[in-house]
Amino acid sequence: MKSLKELTRPNIWNLAAYSSARNEYSGKEAHVFLDANENPYNAPLNRYPDPLQTELKEKISSIKGVKPGQIFLGNGSDEAIDLVYRCFTEPGTDNVVAIEPTYGMYKVCADINNVEYRRVLLDERFQMSAEKMLEACDEHTKVIWICSPNNPIGNNICKEEIEKILNTFEGLVVVDEAYSDFSQQEPFRTKLSRYPNIIVLNTFSKAWGCAAIRLGMAYASEEIINIFNKVKYPYNINLLTQRQALEMLDDPFGVDKWVRTLLQERGRMISAFQLLPICKGVYPTDANFFLAKMTDAQAIYNYLVDKGIIVRNITNVTLCNNCLRITIGSKPENSELLSALRNYQ
Ligand SMILES: *Cc1c(COP(=O)(O)O)cnc(C)c1O
Repeated sequence: MKSLKELTRPNIWNLAAYSSARNEYSGKEAHVFLDANENPYNAPLNRYPDPLQTELKEKISSIKGVKPGQIFLGNGSDEAIDLVYRCFTEPGTDNVVAIEPTYGMYKVCADINNVEYRRVLLDERFQMSAEKMLEACDEHTKVIWICSPNNPIGNNICKEEIEKILNTFEGLVVVDEAYSDFSQQEPFRTKLSRYPNIIVLNTFSKAWGCAAIRLGMAYASEEIINIFNKVKYPYNINLLTQRQALEMLDDPFGVDKWVRTLLQERGRMISAFQLLPICKGVYPTDANFFLAKMTDAQAIYNYLVDKGIIVRNITNVTLCNNCLRITIGSKPENSELLSALRNYQ
């Protein structure tokens, strides 16, 4: 790996972060706060929230097994994705390499930041070749994007290939594990100490059932997390989100139960899809969704919309011709989708 100084944009490396009132004094003993121009009334909403979300990170740390100092919290993982570009890629000069197809935000954020986005096609089994990824890199490649389990397919990317990249690539490797709670594979967040160049993404939006509160995590070395903290908005996670997340973390077993139910339902849905005459095949998945190849994705999509059932038509995505991406819903929702498809003609 190159040094972090070489990988960081010079203006970011030299940046003096904004110092907020809550940064300058963060002790617990004081009881009169006249330092932040807040309104003394309307507690608790009158106070600025903890800029570094200390309590929340400690709880996440104990559940996810990552040190508090190795955790960045963002307004969804999307904030972390954007920060990777803003911290490490020079607009107009640097580039990133990503698997294709994959999650669309990596490309959108590259475009917003005016950074070249290089795609490397997965093979016919939607697997990545580390060699091909590395071949696509040059001296201006700062970041490699890998999503595993990958969206929109749902399969895990082969662990050995990811490790090859982590061991060989000189820049940063982002492994987006938004769906790892649904997978049997050991997550990469447990290997932070082995790979100084890894950034792992997690989110409250999927297994944790909290897409509405907008909370995403990035796990990486403390040095990388400190750079994110310098660049983020000072109070990027609002009080309501922090409180709600703390409440969710008090009951991780509720989440385990959801995950078990969703995995069971996934099995039931895939078996049922394989029997549908209009389904030509289902791809292997390790996520809370699956990809199904249909006889005519667009017509079936329209038919379902007519019945008030929305799935994702991804027929225009590379390698996904005539595919629908189906999220696993509740039992009644899944059954409604199946009976609609059984009646399709
Ligand atoms: C859903 C999803 C996310 C989550 O994004 P949030 O901003 O945290 O809601 C991240 N990465 C992938 C690949 C996803 O599919």
